[in-house]
Amino acid sequence: MPVKRNYSGRTFGQITLDAPAENRPGYWKGRCICGNEVQKRIDNLKRPGNHTCGRCKPVPRIVEPETAARIAALEAALTLIRQEIAAMRIGHVPLELANRQSAICE
Ligand SMILES: [Zn+2]
Repeated sequence: MPVKRNYSGRTFGQITLDAPAENRPGYWKGRCICGNEVQKRIDNLKRPGNHTCGRCKPVPRIVEPETAARIAALEAALTLIRQEIAAMRIGHVPLELANRQSAICE
């Protein structure tokens, strides 16, 4: 009988182990950095490599408030530009749209 080592709290690649899996000798329960829960063979985890859950959810990126505000402003400007291009393609720019366009350029 091999000595049961405690891997609780240990991290292998992206997996942080919690406790031995119930009814699955050699397996541990843990959590991937993406949030998915996993059960992995400890023998596999101890091998070098980037261990993941294998079905990672995208980890949301943290966007600074100033960056988020700038993105919103640029998207708003882009919407106006697209409206103006569409208007020009059909042959005229409505006065109200032209005024809005010049307002964001000041
Ligand atoms: Zn994952």
